[in-house]
Formats: sequence, structure tokens, C-alpha cells
Amino acid sequence: MKYTRFTEKNVLNGTEDIREKPDSFPYQDERFADLQLLRYQVHGFEQLRLSQKKLIYFLSQAALTGRDILWDQNGRYNLRIRKILETIYTDYQGNRTGPNFEALVVYLKRVWFSNGIHHHYGCEKFVPGFTETFFRHAITNVSPEKLPLSEGQTVEQLCNEITPVLFDPNVMPKRVNQASGEDLLLTSACNYYGEGVTQTEAENFYRSLKQPDDPHPVMYGMNSRLIKENGKLTEKTWCSGGLYGSAIDRIVYWLRKAAAVAENPRQQAVLEKLIEFYHTGDLHTFDEYTILWVKETESDVDFTNGFTETYGDPLGMKASWEGYANFKDKEATRRTEKLSAQAQWFEDHSPVDNRFKKSSCQGVSAKVITAAILGGDLYPASAIGINLPNSNWVRAEHGSKSVTIGNLTEAYNKAAHGNGFLEEFVADATVKALIDRYGDLCDDLHTDLHECLGHGSGQLLPGVDPDALKAYGATIEEARADLFGLYYLADEKLVELGLTPDGEAYKAQYYTYMMNGLLTQLVRIEPGNYIEEAHMRNRALIAHWTLEQGSGNGVAELIKEDGKTTVRINDYAQLRLLFGQLLAEIQRIKSEGDYAAARQLVERYGVTVDPDLHREILDRYRKLNLAPYKGFINPVYEPVTDAEGRITDIRISYGEAYDAQMLRYSRDYATLPYINE
Ligand code: ZN
Repeated sequence: MKYTRFTEKNVLNGTEDIREKPDSFPYQDERFADLQLLRYQVHGFEQLRLSQKKLIYFLSQAALTGRDILWDQNGRYNLRIRKILETIYTDYQGNRTGPNFEALVVYLKRVWFSNGIHHHYGCEKFVPGFTETFFRHAITNVSPEKLPLSEGQTVEQLCNEITPVLFDPNVMPKRVNQASGEDLLLTSACNYYGEGVTQTEAENFYRSLKQPDDPHPVMYGMNSRLIKENGKLTEKTWCSGGLYGSAIDRIVYWLRKAAAVAENPRQQAVLEKLIEFYHTGDLHTFDEYTILWVKETESDVDFTNGFTETYGDPLGMKASWEGYANFKDKEATRRTEKLSAQAQWFEDHSPVDNRFKKSSCQGVSAKVITAAILGGDLYPASAIGINLPNSNWVRAEHGSKSVTIGNLTEAYNKAAHGNGFLEEFVADATVKALIDRYGDLCDDLHTDLHECLGHGSGQLLPGVDPDALKAYGATIEEARADLFGLYYLADEKLVELGLTPDGEAYKAQYYTYMMNGLLTQLVRIEPGNYIEEAHMRNRALIAHWTLEQGSGNGVAELIKEDGKTTVRINDYAQLRLLFGQLLAEIQRIKSEGDYAAARQLVERYGVTVDPDLHREILDRYRKLNLAPYKGFINPVYEPVTDAEGRITDIRISYGEAYDAQMLRYSRDYATLPYINE
């Protein structure tokens, strides 16, 4: 079951307070294709104790070391394609200013950003802007020793193997295909299932492993590739000595160093348990590890390292590798602590059926953190809020850790300052003023509510399979968390807790949420495509459902004037009730595992796109010249050593260029063979 990742909510909300002092930190960096690169500041790193700095340094090395695992998970040609493109990028001796070479550079930058040849968000394969003829010429222009040739392979053979993957639109068109009615495994390019493994085979395989009455099921299939060998299905586990073993051993090397400087014995035990899991790949050990991790809340420094989120698997079981290191933002954490301290109150007063509520909310710990490094599936595009672990029973019995990443949100907000987005899409000056005033605040609060209360709320009825909603599970789960946040954002309780300044503030979020779900998130979809990503589906579902349900009473409407469609909300109080009503239904679907209802809701409200409206939104957005997706360049950490080689400080710097960082990572964190079978 998936939780977490409230992706880039702020990207589309350019609501900076213009009175703020201009900041000299260069938040914005390169811009190409549909991407904008940002930099984030690691506030307070210099003030940490030396042992904490060392801990962050070792954890950041561990976070960067798993990069190649993700690349291979995203597609079996990715590592080879990266190597070829990088070699051409650095070594090509022909015309480096011609349109073909320039298009290849943009293509490589997009591939770096997506950790593979498919779009990081939309999952569609990139269309190269350079010709196949140029590619074939360029690859023969560089030294063959630098190319990822397999045993006995000629450059021409490599070229013949790779060109259809790059250029043929019918080969591996989607990384994750979610189209209803198709075999989702055979039509997805991700590398979680071996060739020829069908969706039905995989579903049956995992169904047969599950014990129907097991109260503590492991996360079946989470850390392996399922392949067919001599006609028989078998798992190749990702562990030391197994698949990705060479990368995992190097991650473990850094984790050991981290364990030696842990802040306390409990954190040390967490790291040692993770190392044990990496050694054996035993999923029971993984559960033990997550329980230790979730209970360790005393230290300032924290991390994620490993197979975590399942958005990249069309069946939602296989977890992509990610890693990051962070430390607590103590000041901002007071905000989330107010919410988590009241978790039971929120649970008790939510509009869902009592049967689906938790009678006791187990240790929801919530904090605002400062990210120190982003790695794997959190780099360069990152979540701004994360709630882990993902195991349902671990969450129910031991609680979860919820974080809001303050310094990433800050970078988004700074970069969105004055970009013209709101002026274009918000017609009403009063609403615009409301968003200018409360937008950022409510956005942060909605993220907090989503992560630290929404995902943690509710319970499954006994005996309900946590994977019952299958391909619709992620969308339903995100909708549940969003609705929980939307419903409570308008509650007097938040004013009482001092989290919102008054009873008006929530309207800013209601407006931008509806605008995003109905209109502006469409800028992320290519013409002719439908909505696939779980968070986008959930936002469309919520916005379209409430628009339809409230249409009789004119709660909200779409208005078209002078060729421009905008949202008008006439009755915010009614809109809140509709959010509550939908929350009750979504929770019922989740608690009962009602697959048919999940499918009906998602397919009807969350998937399709009105082509005329889509065209209009894209046209208006294009004129603003903004990038719909953003990602981050990492800072660089360098140990300072004394004459005996002891680390006396860790220095942080921010100036590394995007391409230099990517090339350095490819060189320093190359941990896998080009072909992983
Ligand atoms: Zn979420």
C-alpha cells in the first residue's frame, strides 16, 4: 500500500509575498524542455555539531550511492543509454553547436532529470530532437573503450540494439502504463518484471504468497524482480549477493560509517537493522527495521535509504530505490506538533463512518525538516512531504513518521515569485488577494494535514486485503489524505490552535485546489493524453466530483469569458461539506476494499481530459513561459581533514552546475554493470 509523496504541490501556486526582501541565494538555475532546476539552502548545517555533520555526510554518501539501482529499475537500457549519451556529450569532436548536437544535449538533460528515458511524471518516452542518422554518426565519433559494449559486441551492434529503444515510438512507449483493460506489465517499460511476465501471472503469484488471516503481512514483492525462468516464476531479490548486490554493498559501507557516529544507541540500532536487511533481503527484517525507525524520534538527523515507494510499478508492489538525509527544523516543527498532538481529536471528528475510524491513533510523529541531500527517486524531482513507513499494519500498530521538507518548499515559493501565473488563471481580484495573503501558509498546512494526519487516519475492516484496490489504490489513498486536509483546513479547530489566522484563510486553498484539479494541472499533460499519475488523478477526481455534486446548488462553477476559463466558487461552506461527503465515501472504499467503486470513481472523474479546455489551458500557460516541473541541484559536501586524516569539519557549497553534478554522480557512484540480469 502506498502512502507519501505529496508531489510538488506548490509548483503551480506562485504566491510569494512581494514585500519580502530580495534574497541573494540563487534559487533558480537552468531551464530546458518542461523543466526548471532549483537550488535549496541547507539552513543551519554550519551550526550542527561535528558528529552530526559527519552523520549527514555519511548518510548523504549512502543516499547518492543507490542512484544506479533506480536507473535500472526504471528501464533495462537506461544505464547503457546514459553512458552513451554522456560519452557523446563530453567527447564528441564534430559540430557541437549544430541543431542535432544541441538537441542531444537537451535530451540528455531530460534523461538525467528522469533517471531514464521516460518522463519522470507522465511516464511517456521522450522523443529525441536529433536524428537517428546523427546518433549513429556521433556514437562512432567517440572512443569505443568509453562505450558500454557487452562481451564481444561491436559499436554497430550496440547501436542497432539501442536505436529502436530511443527512436521507435512503439518500443517501450510508457514506463508505467495505467490504461484500464491492457496488460499493465507487458505494456510498461519499467524493469520490475522479467520479459514475458503477464499481469495475471504476477497477480496470481503474489496472491498465492499471501496468508489471508496474517495480521502482520510483509510487503510481498517489494524488493525483487519477478522473472520467468524455464516457464516458472521466481523472484530475484535485491540484496547483498543478489541482484544490485554491488550497489547495495557500497551503500552498506556508508551506512556502517553512519552507524559509528549515530546520535544515540537507538539510531545506531536502526542503521544496523537496515544493514542486516540489505544483507539478507528478508522482508520480516525490513518490517523490524521500519518499526525501529518509526520509534526513533529523539535524534535531530534522520534519513530514508532503500526500497520505498511503489508508484513506479503498475501493480504498486515493487519499490523504487530512494535515499535522503535531513535534520529537524525545530522552530517550524512546533506547527506540526500541534497537529499531531491532536491526532485523536481529528480522527474522532472526521465525517467518516465510525467503523472506519481508529480508536487510538498510534504515535503520529510529525516534523518539519531541512533536506541535506536528495538521492535516488527523490532526485532531482522531490516530494515536499513524506509519510512512512508504507506497511499498513506497522502504521496501525507502531505509527508513522511524517515530514514536511521546509527548505524545498521555500525554494519552490521563492522561484514562483511574481511569475504571472495567478494573474493569468485567477480572474477575481478579491480571490487573488486572498491567495496572495494566505496561499503559502495554507499550502504548508494542507501538506501537514495530508501527511501527518490524512495518511495516518482511518483503518481497514478486518480481513480486507490492503492491495484490494490494485491499480486504483494509490489514487484513492492520495485522495483520502487530500480530502482529510481540505476538510479540516476550514475547521475552527485550526484557528483555535493558532495555525490559521482566521476563518477566511482556508478559502485560498479551496480556490487553488479546485483551480488546480479542474484547470491548471492540465499543463503537465501532453495534448491527446489522459491523466495517469496518482496525485494528479486524485486532484482531478476531487475537483470534478465536487463540481458535479454541487452544480445543482451552484457551489462552484467554470466560467468562460473572452476565451478564458476560470473557476468561480460561490459557496465555500457547502464546498467543505462536499469534501467531507467524498472523504466519507473514499474512506469506505478503502476500508472495505471496494475495488468496483474505486475504479468507477477514478475512471469517471480522475482520468479523462476535455480536449478543448486542455488546449486553452496549454495555450495560456505557454505564453507565461514557465516550466511545469521542477527539480533540485544538490549541494556538495566535502570533508576537511587534519594531518592524521581525521575529519575536522564538513564543508557545504552550492555552486556545482547541473551537468557537472550529473557527470560526477555517474562517475563516482557507478555501482552496477550496464546490464543487470
Ligand atoms: Zn500523500
